[in-house]
Amino acid sequence: MMKYITVVDVKNYSLCPMIAYYNNVLHIYERVTETMELGKEIHDEGFLSHLIPKLKAVKVLRNIELTSGRLGLTGKVDYVFVTRFNEYVPADAKWSDPEFGGAQRHHKAQLAAYSILIEEVYRTVVKRAVIYYVRAKKTVEVPITDSLKHQVEEEIRKIYRMIKTGNEPRVRINPKKCGGCNYQVYCKAKTIDRTLKLRMEKVI
Ligand code: SF4
Repeated sequence: MMKYITVVDVKNYSLCPMIAYYNNVLHIYERVTETMELGKEIHDEGFLSHLIPKLKAVKVLRNIELTSGRLGLTGKVDYVFVTRFNEYVPADAKWSDPEFGGAQRHHKAQLAAYSILIEEVYRTVVKRAVIYYVRAKKTVEVPITDSLKHQVEEEIRKIYRMIKTGNEPRVRINPKKCGGCNYQVYCKAKTIDRTLKLRMEKVI
């Protein structure tokens, strides 16, 4: 049986499909950097204290493992607030900054994937999620709309198609996006190889 993909795969695909290709098709993984280690240490739960009254939470569930057989998706969400109106609100902390004052695109996809899993497991409807950006000390609310959930389900289908066919996604090196990417070394090698081939073709 094929192993289920994870919510982190969905986040990575949303950031750049090549990352999901490296991980899920070629089984190449990024080396762990100091910044990543730092990110893991975010488990200072100070940010929860202002969210509990804000969300009128009566319970905080931690490190919840969730799986959907329907989607072939699994994931572990750091926090889920349960409000006094029995609303489930997933939350995550990120060692980065918001984008234009809101959540970054791939973080939205990640929280929407957790929301879909929560909906299936707890038989509820998730309407919003929260992300705390540690560096900016900012909490951002993400509306979990139908269109966001459909977008994520479509991305899950695309990841499975990519794994099945082994087809490499078409992605261009973009200094803005690729600047801090740990897979740059592989992508640059490919770009150089392609450029060389093109030059050779011109010479021949
Ligand atoms: S270097 Fe750029 S294209 Fe390559 S995996 Fe990273 S973000 Fe994607």
